[in-house]
Amino acid sequence: MEEEEEQVAMEPPKIHRLDESVVNRIAAGEVIQRPVSAVKELVENSFDAHSSSINVVVKDGGLKLIQVSDDGHGIRYEDLPILCERHTTSKLSSFEDLQSIKSMGFRGEALASMTYVAHVTVTTITKGQLHGYRVSYKDGVMENEPKACAAVKGTQIMIENLFYNMSARRKNLQNSADDYSKIVDLLSRFAIHHTSVSFSCRKHGAGRADVSSVATISRIDAIRSVYGVSVARSLMKVEALDNDPSSSVFQMDGFISNSEYVAKKITMVLFINDRLVDCTALKRALEIVYAATLPKAAKPFIYMSIVLPPEHVDVNVHPTKREVSLLNQEVIIEKIQSVVESRLRSSNETQIFQEQTVEPPSSSQMISSKDSNRNPTPSGSKSQKVPVNKMVRTDSSDPAGRLHIYLHAESRGHLEKNTSLTAVRSSVRQRRNPKETADLSSVQELIADIDSNCHSGMLDIVRHCTYIGMADDVFALLQHDTHLYLANIVSLSKELMYQQVLRRFAHFNAIQLSNPAPLKELIVLALKEGDTDPESTENDELNEKIAEMNSELLKQKADLLEEYFSIHIDKDGNLSRLPVILDQYTPDMDRVPEFALCLGNDVDWEEEKKCFQVISAALGNFYAMHPPMLPNPSGDGLQFYQKRKLFRNNEGSLSCNTGADDMMTEDEIEHELVAEAETAWAQREWSIQHVLFPSMRLFFKPPNSMATNGTFVRVASLEKLYRIFERC
Ligand code: ADP
Ligand code: MG
Repeated sequence: MEEEEEQVAMEPPKIHRLDESVVNRIAAGEVIQRPVSAVKELVENSFDAHSSSINVVVKDGGLKLIQVSDDGHGIRYEDLPILCERHTTSKLSSFEDLQSIKSMGFRGEALASMTYVAHVTVTTITKGQLHGYRVSYKDGVMENEPKACAAVKGTQIMIENLFYNMSARRKNLQNSADDYSKIVDLLSRFAIHHTSVSFSCRKHGAGRADVSSVATISRIDAIRSVYGVSVARSLMKVEALDNDPSSSVFQMDGFISNSEYVAKKITMVLFINDRLVDCTALKRALEIVYAATLPKAAKPFIYMSIVLPPEHVDVNVHPTKREVSLLNQEVIIEKIQSVVESRLRSSNETQIFQEQTVEPPSSSQMISSKDSNRNPTPSGSKSQKVPVNKMVRTDSSDPAGRLHIYLHAESRGHLEKNTSLTAVRSSVRQRRNPKETADLSSVQELIADIDSNCHSGMLDIVRHCTYIGMADDVFALLQHDTHLYLANIVSLSKELMYQQVLRRFAHFNAIQLSNPAPLKELIVLALKEGDTDPESTENDELNEKIAEMNSELLKQKADLLEEYFSIHIDKDGNLSRLPVILDQYTPDMDRVPEFALCLGNDVDWEEEKKCFQVISAALGNFYAMHPPMLPNPSGDGLQFYQKRKLFRNNEGSLSCNTGADDMMTEDEIEHELVAEAETAWAQREWSIQHVLFPSMRLFFKPPNSMATNGTFVRVASLEKLYRIFERC
């Protein structure tokens, strides 16, 4: 109430026109956000002046000095007086020109802006003149008449004391001393695109340049000289072209890294119509492809140049022209994504083939060992097998990939000495009968069932949604267009794993268990869990018997499980190997007992299709991203860890004062268990975001049933939410 009265009583403040210099300084702060933005504007001006050599010198991360010298066409003497006024440009006269603009600049704002936030000095000479001119500018105007001076071809612009009159900005930047590296990064990017221009960038007073490139005709040479030999070595060329006006018109060429390139961060150098820009959607699309195809090299180096008809690009959507918007962006991104994907897949294959040195003796040995699987002691010769983590899978998604090929090291000793070598000497294990699995019509039928039962609406959601985060232990929040959805992660992942088992059928890479697990004991465990009273010993004998029978049965089926599912059971009935269903993902081993029981109990081994279907479903259930068995300590689950401790205390001393119950202190939490639980939950969340969703985008075919069984629930339409908020 009081406040309202005060407002009513207050005189409205008078509106007045801002001083032109204030307006300009505010605008300048927008165009020139940091030293690196000034460098970008200056270097782009040099490109526009058709320079073939651009040299940059920087002092104090650009705050003291930025100096850009070029050998371009220079600036006319008569233009010098208005050079740094706002909206003076030689590049654009009518708005319509903007449609087809080819130059980097067009607003005539950059130089003007700089004069409002720094001291600007220009030295320039045009063709045919005997001497050049030097002149300084402040707040958009010439400070003095241009002075004649000696000059070499082109223009040199010096920016001194950037943000001298914006103390907050200057302080901020002084604290974050990384602008020099940003400038180096910027020039590196320019240097690999503008291969006909020589670049150098150095710190003031430094003898050595941090970026130095000479004009060359080869892009890969430029990349080598700027980013180094090892980057250049791991790059492959990619190209795409579309010329269908009804969908998209563009041309893309670029270089992308292969599986050898391992980095902490993605480097994406993108030029659209020769403009260095960001395109978040494209970047994300490519990241997904890498995560799914080369998970170990999932942070790629990508250089891409896309050329479109100028009228399809709106360059005027951002003050620093950093983001552009494109006509038919979605179509273009999808096309580029699929080109990159097939390039990665094919390179992955050839690389594996190249790395393999076929050694007939050992490969025939493998074949005969495979044959021996048919006799009653199946696993006899399998112990010679190579550690699975050294095996490399060929591309299983390729239906033509009927060769089952692994990389094998010669021997363990040899391998240990050379673990760091990627090109492990290897042999090829060829399937005994390569045609066999592909001809298994039962598996083909199961895959066809998945395809024919796919819900197209949900397929679109899965392909194009953005993962926002976990809403609770089971449901993830997704955004698709303007809608929000809750999606059941357990049922989604279960189905995805099932589908992937069938697609990778008989072509799995394997996970080696560090301790082989005795099937019988696992099954006993699972049976006990199913008992109504796990503490009682009543059923023990019966459980033992069932477990014994089941594990015997599985031992008999070891051949089939190994050959088609990469589930390895040794002759003593230990489970020692499991398949990789999604790269970079291992299942929760707490669920092994349940899985073992399911294999022993539920599979009908007589009917082929049914048998494969049930085993695949059992694997799907086992590998699904269930909530970890330990309750989530970040929510109500924390109680679980407190209670346990309390329970033990009470057990320890029966006479314990029950008053302790409500005196629960932090010390009574079992920290180790909490840490274990925290890791399990964090790992799961990571896998959901980085493995499950990227893989779903590529592979998942949502079955029709998911539309109605609560797997996907639409919770809100953002348009409506906005309308509600507007009213608030
Ligand atoms: P814009 O680039 O948008 O035209 P700027 O403020 O960056 O605006 O530059 C204003 C004008 O100054 C340009 O249009 C160009 O004619 C001239 N100019 C700036 N830098 C150079 C340079 N290095 N060489 C030749 N001319 C330049
Ligand atoms: Mg410019």
